[in-house]
Amino acid sequence: MYGPGDVRVVDREDPKIIDPTDALIAITATCICGSDLWPYRGVEPVDHTLMGHEYVGVVEEIGDAVATLKVGDFVVGSFCISDNTCEICRAGYQSRCVHGSFVAGAIGTQSELARIPYADGTLVATPGQPDQDLIPSLLAASDVLGTGWFAAVAAAAGPGKTVAVVGDGAVGLMGVLAAKQLGADRIIAMSRHADRQVLAREFGATDIVDTRGDEGVTAIKDLTNGLGAHSVIEAVGSQESMMQAIRSTRPGGHLGYVGVAHDGVTLPADQLFFAEVHLLGGPAPVRRFLPDLIDRVWNRTIDPGRVFDLTLPLDQAAEGYKAMDERRAVKTLLTV
Ligand SMILES: [Zn+2]
Repeated sequence: MYGPGDVRVVDREDPKIIDPTDALIAITATCICGSDLWPYRGVEPVDHTLMGHEYVGVVEEIGDAVATLKVGDFVVGSFCISDNTCEICRAGYQSRCVHGSFVAGAIGTQSELARIPYADGTLVATPGQPDQDLIPSLLAASDVLGTGWFAAVAAAAGPGKTVAVVGDGAVGLMGVLAAKQLGADRIIAMSRHADRQVLAREFGATDIVDTRGDEGVTAIKDLTNGLGAHSVIEAVGSQESMMQAIRSTRPGGHLGYVGVAHDGVTLPADQLFFAEVHLLGGPAPVRRFLPDLIDRVWNRTIDPGRVFDLTLPLDQAAEGYKAMDERRAVKTLLTV
């Protein structure tokens, strides 16, 4: 991304193995993330930035120290690099690994090839070569599904719980799917868009709330005996969505927030204090969930790939960004 709104597909030097823990992968499919729209819209600084952090592909070459992967393996990677061995990783927070870094910017997987550091700790091989129709769902596991899943786990979604999901973008929809898989009784999707409401219901939403702000909070309370939801997923990242999520959570309830918070989002301490809710959020430790998510996709228990509603070849990436920016697409898959 040369600058806001200016995406170009250009030739770069091929990456090479540098460290013995590296793997070189030939990317099969990648996609455009809702978070890629922040720099596209000029909300985050951008200057000749390498884009892309969601990816699946085939291992082309491995460093001498790579033990769990071999050349030819089909792999799904996390959007965060992690060694998966440090104390933070072993506690399940691979997105904050002591050797961690972000794929976005540094590597950029909207490309044909990528060098993945700490390959054993970042990539997970599938049981074999996937059928073509599984590729979108495996790709979803790389970020949106993993992020929605983390949000649902952070929100303590499960049997006996009512879950409210703030945000009807790809991550919010994956939060609905995750809450359903985790056994939630009731799932309320907050969405004002008819097409996304349909998708939310397909993924497991039992109720739709099409209002937001004060009205949205009131609607959630009306559906929960005036108490608020047990579990709330926040998947937008704005001041309004965060406050709406906190106010929709019942005292003692859990809020998982995964919308990328931006400058200017501040949480008033007095409201937080008296809300009395559990808060957990941040960049999702997708690596923690990848083996399980790959298994569910492989067994065709879940079909998160339906979240992609536009598929383009990599050289038309600019159109993919434009379509998402103009809300003509929820999420764009790029074939390589
Ligand atoms: Zn680590």
